Amino acid sequence: MPDTKYIFVTGGVTSSLGKGIISASLGKLLQSRGYKVTIQKLDPYINVDPGTLNPYEHGECYVTVDGAETDLDLGHYERFLNVPTTQANNVTTGRIYQTVINKERKGDYLGKTVQIIPHITDEIKRNIKLLGSKHKFDFVITEIGGTVGDIESLPYIESVRQLRWELGKNCQVIHLTYVPYLAASGELKTKPTQHSVKALLEEGVQPDILVLRTERELTPDIRRKVALFCNVDIQSVIQSIDVKTIYEVPLKMQEEGLDVTVLRKFGLPIEPKADLTEWTAFVDMLKNATETVNIGLVGKYVELADAYKSIIEALIHASAYNRRKLSLKLIHSEKIDEHNISKEFEGLSGIIVAPGFGHRGIEGKIQAVKYCRENNLPFFGICLGMQCAVIEYARNVLHLQGVNSTEMEYNCANPVIDLMEEQKTISQMGGTMRLGAYDCSLKTGSNVEAIYGSTSISERHRHRYEFNNKYLSLFEEGGMKPVGTNPDTNLVEIVEIPEHRWFVGVQFHPEYRSTVVNPHPLFVAFVKAAIS
Ligand code: GLN
Repeated sequence: MPDTKYIFVTGGVTSSLGKGIISASLGKLLQSRGYKVTIQKLDPYINVDPGTLNPYEHGECYVTVDGAETDLDLGHYERFLNVPTTQANNVTTGRIYQTVINKERKGDYLGKTVQIIPHITDEIKRNIKLLGSKHKFDFVITEIGGTVGDIESLPYIESVRQLRWELGKNCQVIHLTYVPYLAASGELKTKPTQHSVKALLEEGVQPDILVLRTERELTPDIRRKVALFCNVDIQSVIQSIDVKTIYEVPLKMQEEGLDVTVLRKFGLPIEPKADLTEWTAFVDMLKNATETVNIGLVGKYVELADAYKSIIEALIHASAYNRRKLSLKLIHSEKIDEHNISKEFEGLSGIIVAPGFGHRGIEGKIQAVKYCRENNLPFFGICLGMQCAVIEYARNVLHLQGVNSTEMEYNCANPVIDLMEEQKTISQMGGTMRLGAYDCSLKTGSNVEAIYGSTSISERHRHRYEFNNKYLSLFEEGGMKPVGTNPDTNLVEIVEIPEHRWFVGVQFHPEYRSTVVNPHPLFVAFVKAAIS
């Protein structure tokens, strides 16, 4: 395609309507027609990235191959499109201002007054267009975080307004709103949508397509009314009805003709239809599974499942491929101890100990590892979960005294997990962990080598602490095997207990790599072990 087409997805009425899923679904439909598609998220907050945000604030921090700490919506983009994203796919207000202020300090603005318009909006536009020009995508879908009318998102909407002029026919705006159902009067209400489109118009942007989230089928009358009041044609009023799983949304959007409407407006061919064979096969597996697999996820942010978004999605993929329905119990690590653990774990056939930071809930996690190890229950430790497995083994099998991670206890006698050498001089918190994809060599004959079907892998990281190699031979001889190491630094990335039914701890985050068409082998093998 000669010119990159830019599609903006804005949201109105309320947050949490699923702009990310709509963007990802449209991306999937266009990609399935053979187009090269990428999706970008613009976040209106002032943090430079979500890396320093508490998971309670914003859910999981998603890490890309190039080590960017990003919004969890990028996880959806990767899971749907099966194409890696990078730092360029997530831009925040903090990053925009940082760049502009750095330029100002360097004198790049030649004495001009630096202002939101044009300097901030220019920087926003540069970031949007960068994806199209540098990477030659056919479609760049840009999701604007927040809700129309927010003070914070104003510069972004203003940039969209300007880009509509600059890009002309190569630009479209999709606005996602909500149509509430009033039980008392038994009616669906369009007024919030009308108001939200008005708010967008006040900022100078007429949407081309409206996607209406709804719990009930929209009648033709409702669609006509929205079209009339919001200046769009009836084909551009798209219903997005609640579905059981987010993975059904692309199929629903295809039924509603979202991709056809977009292509028609761009003057692009609408035949042949998007081929969703592989996708449909996955959704069928997901929906037709009758038997369940019961997994427990032990973590300290369980009040907010979004904190573990990618782990949960990876488990959903793995369960579907094992023809099982996932039944997930989220277990608060602060609430388990040696007395109640057998009750808490009753009926579960596999346990994941989650990643995390700081000492809160750590002893519960260690208790969970102990229970799995002693009861031959499949165990999967991720990042801090792996570190807990190492601590537990040193305490209860190797019988060392004063064992801990120096993250939890700085002066412990046996720091089996310790701060990485290159972290010792770091004082700044943001963007300074060991981040992104690193190679890892797997030991021949290990369980993980069989699972990956390879001795050389690459996985994404986000941590400061590591297995302390001073204890390497002690663990090796004591039965917990370091079976994955970084080829350049010798850092231990994977431990396993070969005698156990399934006991694997990984320093990296395999969950970031699990997609609908490429479920992660470790998750698939873990679920398989749980049901065997
Ligand atoms: N807190 C641990 C570290 O920094 C583990 C991090 C994680 O689980 N992502 O090494």
